[in-house]
Amino acid sequence: MEEIQTTITKFSLLDNVPIGLCLLRSDFIVLFWNQCLENWTSIPRSEILGTNICDRYTQLNQSKYQFRFQQVFRSGFPAVFSPQLHQSLIPSFLPNGQERIQQITVNAIPDDDGDGFYALIALQDITELTSRLKKYQQELTARQKIQKELERSNAELEQFAYLASHDLQEPLRMVISFTQLLAQRYRGKLDDDADRIIDFAVDGAKRMESLIRDLLTYSRVTIKAKPFESVSCEEILKLSINNLQITIAETNTAIEIHPLPTVLGDRSQLIQVFQNLLTNAIKYRSARPPKIEVGAEIAKNCWIFYVKDNGIGIDSRHFDRIFAIFQRLHTRAEYPGTGIGLAICQKIVNRHGGKIWVESELGQGTIFYFTIPVNQK
Ligand code: ADP
Repeated sequence: MEEIQTTITKFSLLDNVPIGLCLLRSDFIVLFWNQCLENWTSIPRSEILGTNICDRYTQLNQSKYQFRFQQVFRSGFPAVFSPQLHQSLIPSFLPNGQERIQQITVNAIPDDDGDGFYALIALQDITELTSRLKKYQQELTARQKIQKELERSNAELEQFAYLASHDLQEPLRMVISFTQLLAQRYRGKLDDDADRIIDFAVDGAKRMESLIRDLLTYSRVTIKAKPFESVSCEEILKLSINNLQITIAETNTAIEIHPLPTVLGDRSQLIQVFQNLLTNAIKYRSARPPKIEVGAEIAKNCWIFYVKDNGIGIDSRHFDRIFAIFQRLHTRAEYPGTGIGLAICQKIVNRHGGKIWVESELGQGTIFYFTIPVNQK
């Protein structure tokens, strides 16, 4: 057939592409069958060219396929037969015994007479892609399961810490009042050893009280979280400064405030972040009069806040450690505290979708940075 010869010459460039290509005339006669299809189907070109494809692949006689092919031949509308929707058709093109997943696209090409269209069937092997996608989906599901399990056990732990610290307060209050009573009644009436022991007991109970109180505050960040609202950081910074005004006055601290944005967040928690950072900036001051600078800069999708001081500084070896719960770099005799302040800051900032970090040089000062996503509203 001359038409077949012309088509083969015209399409010779497509003979070796890794896509199965077949050209059909409007009466379903095969005009072109490329090398790739020969390999996949094991049907040699000599056998199929000039024959009606529906005789071999009888499913194509179904009206749904006939209808779509007629649309291609008459109107030039392309058609796609996906493996999901056309399971009955696709396997018919599979090479013997091989499980491949293929997708069929049918495109219209103007026929030689110029009054209709040929249908160019392109078979794409998407087996690798599909199996990679499947594997990826399986991995994702497994990871999501682990993530869910982690979140559940985290929530359980937090609930436990909250309840434990909450319920321990009452008996501890009793211990404190009774040891204090003991001290009042018997200090100086027994021997020196007894006085010392009573003092240790009072001191230990008080320490335990502050640790438990801090642990409770820490658990409350998530357990008693409030919904986010629009928060003016300038306003809440002023509130934090107000809460610290006595310490600020006593230590002669100078605070420089740069313009701060409004963000979406938990108002009282953000006050706590500023207050903890300011308290530390004053507490860990050097011999110089304390000077603090607070500001914010816009980055890609978030605000980067900073609290800068001219205090004693932190050795870079401890940059990570200081954010862990109850981790301190000094004794209580040097600086009072329990080591929870920065852990609370981190938990609050994380809850807001941000992160917190430190830059510092011993003897020079410290800058704490934290990010809060930009308010999209
Ligand atoms: P606390 O102050 O009760 O020890 P924090 O969690 O607030 O607990 O701080 C942890 C440690 O980080 C502190 O013990 C201190 O050594 C160090 N630190 C925090 N802020 C500063 C600062 N501004 N300058 C120097 N050291 C700091």
